[in-house]
Amino acid sequence: MTEIEKFGHFAFIRHSGISKYVEALEQGKLTATRCRKCGSVYFPPRKFCPKCLADDMEWIEYEQAGEGRLLSYSILYLAVAGFDEKEFPAPVGVAQFPDGNRVYARIEGVAPDSLRVGMRVKLVPKALPDGRVTHVLQPA
Ligand SMILES: [Zn+2]
Repeated sequence: MTEIEKFGHFAFIRHSGISKYVEALEQGKLTATRCRKCGSVYFPPRKFCPKCLADDMEWIEYEQAGEGRLLSYSILYLAVAGFDEKEFPAPVGVAQFPDGNRVYARIEGVAPDSLRVGMRVKLVPKALPDGRVTHVLQPA
């Protein structure tokens, strides 16, 4: 299984330079990249810095995520190709974290009718039953 195949589910990450991210997820850790030139931190990790265009990034454990706020959410009712229909309906959303990162991911641990814009969420690494890994949002 390639890194791309291992990283599935509903979250989005760049399709390049994700090996270290997947390896960390397999160890139950979240990692980000930090630009050595301007200090910007990116989660999900990026290989290049969109702020200063540098390609000198370092990998860091992403412990600064802290508590985010749900900016928007939706419920997927139709199973996406390659996913187990038992996982649907599936809440997904975008959360804003204190360092400015916005993260799109599946939302777990809350009933769909209890989702609210502005609710507090945290980022959690997750191993899926089929051997893939991902990150999800859970209530903080
Ligand atoms: Zn930079």
